Amino acid sequence: MTLRVGVIGHPVAHSISPRFQQAGFDAVGVDAQYEAWDLQPTELAGFIDDLRRSDALGANVTIPYKEAALRHMDGLHQTARFVGAINTIVNNDGHLQGYNTDVTGFQRSLSEAGFDPAGSRAVLWGAGGAARAVAWALIWRGVDALTIINRTAIRAGRLRHDLASASAGVKLRSLGADEADVVEALVAADLVVQCTSVGLSGSETDGQLPFDPTLLGEASLVADLIANPLETPLVKAARASGRRSIGGLPMLVYQGAAAFELWTEREAPVEVMLGAASSAMLGGSS
Ligand code: NDP
Repeated sequence: MTLRVGVIGHPVAHSISPRFQQAGFDAVGVDAQYEAWDLQPTELAGFIDDLRRSDALGANVTIPYKEAALRHMDGLHQTARFVGAINTIVNNDGHLQGYNTDVTGFQRSLSEAGFDPAGSRAVLWGAGGAARAVAWALIWRGVDALTIINRTAIRAGRLRHDLASASAGVKLRSLGADEADVVEALVAADLVVQCTSVGLSGSETDGQLPFDPTLLGEASLVADLIANPLETPLVKAARASGRRSIGGLPMLVYQGAAAFELWTEREAPVEVMLGAASSAMLGGSS
């Protein structure tokens, strides 16, 4: 029996998860078909219910359903409960368990870049769903100070408030992107994580910089969550000015690899998945 698995979202045609997940299943010899499932909001509940069938491994969940899908789970991993969103569903004999592997995916991409958040000062640029996952990832890795900066200041304040419930000892702060203290926060940061969609290929901010990376200290790391383009304007500008920077593709693949391991209980062939993801981004056919 070919097992069913896929990514739920709207739209999902642009997603490269089918490419690198299928490469992973093929590499380890698991008979599974990974598909892109583009759903209308009215279809979500029924579709998730169907994942309880014995031929379904589960699913990934992407924009805009990460929060809505959580409400249809039978159980939640603790990480998903804190973040308030899921990106992975695992079907355990009809019991649907929700996970948030964006957290571990981001942690792993930082480790691979040689950055240890413990004791560091970090800035989150953005306060949406991805910023929420990154914030918990940094808190659980021992960040000392976390400043959340967002275009809409009230949303940054809401995230700070939600984090405060379980982040004793972490110096939390929130700012609107146009406040004067933003420059000081960027100058003092060891790590800045770009969690907005500014610079996303094909969006109205395609080609734009969310902030000026030359404000950062020369030893700081810039992590842009955007995976498309592979080299965002921010990554490019940071690199050109001598700062270390990483893009969003490693996080995307690592969150997928963590989901793969939950579905299959086998080690994910990460190198194969990274290769397939890079090839997909560059327009290749492997
Ligand atoms: P949300 O819609 O939840 O949040 C969007 C964020 O972007 C908000 O902070 C919003 O600010 C900000 N924003 C949007 N447009 C602008 C603009 N023109 N100027 C300034 N700020 C803007 O999205 P997510 O948090 O889910 O995703 C954010 C990004 O992270 C996406 O590009 C996504 O591709 C990427 N991502 C990457 C992952 C990976 O694995 N690499 C995983 C998850 C996400 P405001 O509150 O003011 O509207």
